[in-house]
Amino acid sequence: MHEFLDYRTMLFMSGLFAIMLSIFLLAINRRTATLHGLISWACANIFVGIAVFIFILDTISIDMRALVGGICMVFGTSFYFLAIITFEQTILLKKQPIIFFGALTFINICIFLAIKSTYISVLFNTGLCIILSISTALLLLKYSPHRTSLEHRFTGLLFLVFAGLTLYRLTIASTDQDNPIEYLTHWNHNEVTFLACMLSVLAINFGYIEMLYAKITEQLGHAAGHDWLTGAMNRGNLEKTYDIIKAISMRAKQQQAMLLMDLDHFKRINDNHGHLFGDKVICAFVNVAKETMRNSDVIGRYGGEEFCILMPSTNEQEAMLLAERIRYKFENHPLAFYDKAIYSTVSIGVCDSKQVGREFNGMFAAADQSLYAAKKAGRNKVITYSSISVDHSVVI
Ligand code: GH3
Ligand code: MG
Ligand code: MG
Repeated sequence: MHEFLDYRTMLFMSGLFAIMLSIFLLAINRRTATLHGLISWACANIFVGIAVFIFILDTISIDMRALVGGICMVFGTSFYFLAIITFEQTILLKKQPIIFFGALTFINICIFLAIKSTYISVLFNTGLCIILSISTALLLLKYSPHRTSLEHRFTGLLFLVFAGLTLYRLTIASTDQDNPIEYLTHWNHNEVTFLACMLSVLAINFGYIEMLYAKITEQLGHAAGHDWLTGAMNRGNLEKTYDIIKAISMRAKQQQAMLLMDLDHFKRINDNHGHLFGDKVICAFVNVAKETMRNSDVIGRYGGEEFCILMPSTNEQEAMLLAERIRYKFENHPLAFYDKAIYSTVSIGVCDSKQVGREFNGMFAAADQSLYAAKKAGRNKVITYSSISVDHSVVI
């Protein structure tokens, strides 16, 4: 190859680039509290970068290359795996990583000191790199909720490419070579596959940056349409979603229903127990409502302690049953205030599109009147619009 593009320089540059990307990711990490796993990914890149430097330095003895380079490589792939688990928040990790990395180091030192076999050490570390890369690929391609997204597929497939190339190198080393350790830990043997491994690691990094970008966009989109305290939709988003609920119900030639809910005597809760406890009650109510409603229903917060549920393809009677379940569950839901259990209640107004038509304002006014009636009737009640309205003319 051209003297300016020799393999060793390219490998050095790819290792350096991996380390520079770590610095870039650590800088991003300082600015965000909502992206997880960035530090692990940065550590992975640093370990892989150091491993490459060790593999291209002729001055390091073969045993050291095998031990330190091998450990760096296996730490690197472990950190990629860890970063993806944290990114997807599949499992909440606490002390597991420390135990895992401690065990890895211990096994390596044992192999080195007790068995005194550099070959077994290299086999162990390379094998583990392959297993970890395949596991990371599986997380991205099979178990992630975003597995169908382009960036997840791209990154997952590249992890498989990396695992495949490493397996290929391991197979050649253990079958064809007189000195498999030298083959696996020195750059100057089958340089094309070595470089391809490093290029796949760099491409994996681009996939990961794309994953971060997609996540930030998703988080921003969610924040723009949802209430920060409860996670329910905000009023603007709820009104936009209303059109979807309407279209679904019209297509099914069925009614659509609306619940308006207002917590009872909430000022008293704030006054007696403080606003922070009041916030907890609001969140607890939303959780009770979410647990009770169907997947197709949506909940929005349209005021301080006032909520609205939109229900596609549902009539007033069905909506009333759900409202009654929410009212009953919330009434019996203990809210911990120090060592005391506090109970709160909710009043709910219910209507469907049969009496008032499908327009948002008409539905909202009808549900509001029903809610007002529920408050007037003594609170902690569910009142339907048909029970208070005189005009029962049918509008679909
Ligand atoms: P009613 O049974 O008639 O609904 O009585 P109420 O005391 O609940 O009256 P209202 O609905 O008018 O009171 C709403 C109160 O909710 C007033 C406001 O201080 C409080 N509030 C609004 N938003 C929040 C919030 O985000 N957190 C807390 N803690 N309180 C809030
Ligand atoms: Mg209230
Ligand atoms: Mg209110």
